[in-house]
Amino acid sequence: MSTYKLVCPACHGCMRIRTSVGQTPCFRSTYYQCQNVACGATFSGSVTIDYQLSPSGLEQPLMVLPVAPAVERMKALRDNAKATNQMDLLAALEEAV
Ligand SMILES: [Zn+2]
Repeated sequence: MSTYKLVCPACHGCMRIRTSVGQTPCFRSTYYQCQNVACGATFSGSVTIDYQLSPSGLEQPLMVLPVAPAVERMKALRDNAKATNQMDLLAALEEAV
């Protein structure tokens, strides 16, 4: 599991999410607080879920988002690639990003 470290724009210290409010299933308003006692800045922002990278395993998911443009581009490249036994290292690297 990875942990995203929130960085204070004012001092580059650690921040925490003080509270968040779900506006929709894909959008939350968030309020941040710097943990550096000397700074103590607070911020507001948002967390969004914009695209689907892979489909849900549920038979009838509550919501289906548009597929990310990068995923669509990679699928088009794969579909149009010549049949070969060699692995496309560039495509493998791009998928890993
Ligand atoms: Zn700060």
